[in-house]
Amino acid sequence: MQEKRKILMVASEVVPFAKTGGLADVCGALPKALQELGHDVRLLMPLYKQVDVKGHRIRRAAALKNIPLKIGSDKIQIDFRTGKLPDSKVKTYFLDYDEFYNRDELYVDPETGKDYPNNDRRFIALSRAAFALCESLDWIPDVIHCHDWQTALIPLLIKNEERFAGTRTVLTIHNLGYQGNFPPETIELIGDYAHLMQPMGPMEYFGKVSFLKTGVHFADKLNAVSPTYAREIQGSEEYGYGFQGILQERAADLVGILNGLDVDVWNPKGDSNIAVNYDVATLDKKIENKKALCERVGFTFSETVPLFGVISRLADQKGFDLFAEIKEALVALPFQFVLLGTGDKKYEELFRGLAKSNPKKFHAIIGFNNKLAHRIEAGVDCFMMPSRYEPCGLNQMMSMRYGTVPLVRATGGLADTVIDVDAEPERGNGFTFDAYDAELLLETIKRAVKTFENQSRWIAMQERGMKHDFSWTASANKYGELYEQALQKS
Ligand code: ADP
Repeated sequence: MQEKRKILMVASEVVPFAKTGGLADVCGALPKALQELGHDVRLLMPLYKQVDVKGHRIRRAAALKNIPLKIGSDKIQIDFRTGKLPDSKVKTYFLDYDEFYNRDELYVDPETGKDYPNNDRRFIALSRAAFALCESLDWIPDVIHCHDWQTALIPLLIKNEERFAGTRTVLTIHNLGYQGNFPPETIELIGDYAHLMQPMGPMEYFGKVSFLKTGVHFADKLNAVSPTYAREIQGSEEYGYGFQGILQERAADLVGILNGLDVDVWNPKGDSNIAVNYDVATLDKKIENKKALCERVGFTFSETVPLFGVISRLADQKGFDLFAEIKEALVALPFQFVLLGTGDKKYEELFRGLAKSNPKKFHAIIGFNNKLAHRIEAGVDCFMMPSRYEPCGLNQMMSMRYGTVPLVRATGGLADTVIDVDAEPERGNGFTFDAYDAELLLETIKRAVKTFENQSRWIAMQERGMKHDFSWTASANKYGELYEQALQKS
């Protein structure tokens, strides 16, 4: 039995309040699982414009108003609002400061397509607010659990917070590709830390102030979101993004913990977003969702033609440059393909172009649409993730929950969750390929198309995926152990 601990989780996005990617899924589900284990878990995130204040009954609190916060020489006044993570008792606090967070997007200015120029201030404020909140509540946590660069200054700032001398920090790395590197002047906004900015110093990264590097240096314990990714980021420049050295130095404090899924939200049996509900015992009903999706996107429905899907941020990380190389060959294949995604303009153009010239075979929905994401998971036969790197990946797990067979590059969490059916016919739950190579991707897609002809083999794969336990329970226990290890540090 683990001790019950007081845990403050600080994150820049949390489902269902605000989301751009898997980070939000994790921060919406892990606190609930930890609370079920008996921990007193609370959450802090910014009050963005898209947070549905009324819908989630988020309230003002008299005791949490007009709290002073320093950012460099600026003094601002912040409020916190309070709410609950739905279907749980997890107290959630929202940092309310319009000038920073009442914006159309979370990190990127939609008008310029670039990061907001004051992202350093926005996330220094969130990190400092963690201490201000706990002091106002007179609730000092045992552990502050930070997520990604946006909160990675907390392990440094805590060193100057007297009341938190007994509190330890854990930093979870969800994606090393996003490091929060800012111009050297940013150091003055953080505090009296110029001495940590010498070349190769704890906060310095090629002349910039790196929030993530600071966290990697100062956090008591670190983890990456899958065992394979934890190894990959220490092993090479390609995965380590220049951090492999410092990560190797912290190897004794760095582990990999695979993400789980919110299995209540991602459950084909009770999902109100999809056309027809089903589970592993009624898998034959899944086809009704394929019919509904084909109708929606204007495809001719066919039981024998496999329908492939992608739901993704359109970023270089996700491997769509491989797709571009083989697009002619794909047009000739007996399959259909639907994409939901948004991001890099060059990929948006690639998929729009394919859909325009082959409307019966390719369909692209450019945008972010949660309901449609559920419908695609339920409606397609095969889900593609040819990622260049993938810290954990949630969509392959969501796919398996919905009886949709994943086709992935074997990297990071994809390698930890998908077993190739040709390599291991009795255990296989999908298709994998190793090298980052377009021909290999094409070959793997052809293997999947061919395997779809053998329906009994396909169904066996679907069933294996659907029966797998993707819940958070096991991983939440591992986080509990990590907190204990952090607390043992002096
Ligand atoms: P990442 O965090 O790198 O974006 P993950 O696979 O870990 O990748 O998580 C992505 C999450 O975001 C999944 O829940 C996925 O369904 C969702 N998602 C990504 N793009 C979209 C989109 N355009 N519309 C709706 N949901 C999306």
